Amino acid sequence: MLIDTHCHLFYKDLKNDLDGIIYRAAELGVSRFVCVGTNLEDSRVCLKIAEQYKNIYASAGVHPHDAKDVSEDYLDQISNLMKSDRMVAVGEIGLDYYRNISESETQKNIFREQMALAQQLKKPVIFHNRDADKDVIQILSEFPDVTGVAHCYSGGLETAGTFLDFGYYISFSGNLTFKNSHLVDVAKELPLDKILVETDSPYLSPVPFRGKPNEPGRTRYIAEKLAMIHNVSLDVIAEKTTVNAETLFGI
Ligand SMILES: [Zn+2]
Ligand SMILES: [Zn+2]
Repeated sequence: MLIDTHCHLFYKDLKNDLDGIIYRAAELGVSRFVCVGTNLEDSRVCLKIAEQYKNIYASAGVHPHDAKDVSEDYLDQISNLMKSDRMVAVGEIGLDYYRNISESETQKNIFREQMALAQQLKKPVIFHNRDADKDVIQILSEFPDVTGVAHCYSGGLETAGTFLDFGYYISFSGNLTFKNSHLVDVAKELPLDKILVETDSPYLSPVPFRGKPNEPGRTRYIAEKLAMIHNVSLDVIAEKTTVNAETLFGI
């Protein structure tokens, strides 16, 4: 059975159809999800969902887009949420220089502060990186005790190698299935014991659902693509990626 290690179930269309989503996911062999927060408000909803459904876990953190809006005591608030045993990681955190919705200096500060919090709480991080390889690598290197996952990986092989050297996992989403994706060549070179799968629902629907709202069951299509790339069965991918997620998140 597969684990969707990254979805945003707090969006209305997903939140209002959780039973349907869980049912359809089970039909596709996806049995557990991690609901990832992007700000304090979302993170609280993630926790509520995870308290309600035993196959859904949660994370709490501030996304780089939301970095500009944090309250003074946001770290204490994340820390408080992290006390729940349903909380498996700090995230999503990171840097996004593609959209630059928060200023880069602000993004870096908020990323660093949350890395320090993860270190203090001894929790893994779920990080987002878009067009910010150099600064992400710099900040990760400042916290050698922290581990986690490079979510929705979209970079090249060299950066992936650096993340692996730091002890991080690499997670692939629907963009692995897109036509002519350079990620196929990246995924081919990575060891299966360091790979996770995710949907990033409601974003990034895999082929053949591209452009439509995504949901956790579609983790199956990313796993199938990985199986093809690595020339192994879907069962092998399911077993490996599930053990990886269990190891990283302690579930
Ligand atoms: Zn992200
Ligand atoms: Zn996300």
